[in-house]
Amino acid sequence: MKNRYDVIVVGGGPAGSMAALKAAEGGASVCIMEKDRDIGYPVRCGEAIGELGLKQFVDIRPNWIAATITEFRLISPNGTKIDTEFSGQKGFILHRRIFDYDLCTMAADAGADVFTKAYVNGLIIENDIVCGIKVNHLGDQKNIYSKIVIAADGLESRVGRWAGLRTQIRMKDMESCMQYTVANVPLKENRIDFYVGQEYAPGGYLWVFPKGPTTANIGMGISGAYSKDVNPKKLLDKFMEKNYPDVSILTSMCGGVPCAKPMKDAVRNGVILVGDAGHQVNPMTGGGIVSAMKGGSIGGTVAAESIKKSDYSKSFLDKYNSILKKDFGDTHNRFYKIKEVISALTDDDLDGIAKKVSKIPEGDRTLTQIFKACVMKKPSLIFDVVKVFAGV
Ligand SMILES: Cc1cc2nc3c(=O)[nH]c(=O)nc-3n(C[C@H](O)[C@H](O)[C@H](O)COP(=O)(O)OP(=O)(O)OC[C@H]3O[C@@H](n4cnc5c(N)ncnc54)[C@H](O)[C@@H]3O)c2cc1C
Repeated sequence: MKNRYDVIVVGGGPAGSMAALKAAEGGASVCIMEKDRDIGYPVRCGEAIGELGLKQFVDIRPNWIAATITEFRLISPNGTKIDTEFSGQKGFILHRRIFDYDLCTMAADAGADVFTKAYVNGLIIENDIVCGIKVNHLGDQKNIYSKIVIAADGLESRVGRWAGLRTQIRMKDMESCMQYTVANVPLKENRIDFYVGQEYAPGGYLWVFPKGPTTANIGMGISGAYSKDVNPKKLLDKFMEKNYPDVSILTSMCGGVPCAKPMKDAVRNGVILVGDAGHQVNPMTGGGIVSAMKGGSIGGTVAAESIKKSDYSKSFLDKYNSILKKDFGDTHNRFYKIKEVISALTDDDLDGIAKKVSKIPEGDRTLTQIFKACVMKKPSLIFDVVKVFAGV
């Protein structure tokens, strides 16, 4: 490990690897510090991703794909099922263990040094400028200097806070999740299932994502607004007992998803926040892999430019805030408002909407048709959604 890099990336997830890749391609000397022993493990993710989102960044490799998805099923609180085919695109359930590892390998091949078991436990700040990190690497405590630190340290990010950024998330915007990866489960391999309603996942949803003919990620996330009174593990266990009593649980994990508005300001002198650390998850779906890759790419590119210009100041790095805002920040703000509208729907509303939609022939179930049915069942929705798009 050298004692000085142009760019230090904290965290070896999708955001960190993309940031390191872009910064290295832009000519900077780069390293990634990852606290875990392995890149890509443990996996804390449902692993679902859209083909179009993924393709923007990388050529998709077959060994990343556990299942290819062409349909989804929505199950309302009273059990009404709505089946819809994706039109014109498909999704994947990834093997994130392999995917994250390969992304990091690409960053290394572009010139980034990668260190695992490297736990970043502080920043070096001089005259209000972040100029490095304090790291415990394999038991040795070191100070490593940099021009830019990219915080890609995920949900539990502390780098942003150390740099003086407001990274707190309101309790109601933090989804508490529990997931099992199970075997011996009867499935339709090309379909993902979502269950909604108070019984399954208050303020969120429960998912069944196939990972092959007989294995799946089955998990659920509930809004933080309920997490004082509701235990996600108990809800998931109840669901498993009722629906999949004979499966074997191979892995269990719990985690949080920050379903907040994106941070308006994710930079300081010498610091850029990317991915979950910068609240870049799609707040409506909880999906964060693509936006982490996007945030990481933009962050790494801006970092490389700042190195070339020898300007690591907040005012130069503000460029990152404005590119993000135009790219997906404004859209995520809109998704946040739609999430608020959806989470105010009662179980009766959801059942009523599901009944209406189930009457539309399966081949005609486009998003517009579904939206029309929602509005017919609950006309006040149109006002809420118009408000969202009008930005009021
Ligand atoms: C239960 C669950 C299900 C999900 N399902 C989906 C899904 O189906 N599809 C989807 O798109 N998204 C999903 N997400 C969200 C998605 O996993 C994240 O948005 C995505 O992983 C964010 O990538 P990242 O690189 O920002 O952070 P991460 O992938 O979390 O990577 C952060 C890395 O930083 C490291 N790190 C943290 N602190 C330090 C430190 N101090 N020093 C060194 N290293 C550090 C961590 O070990 C970690 O490797 C899910 C999340 C959860 C919890």
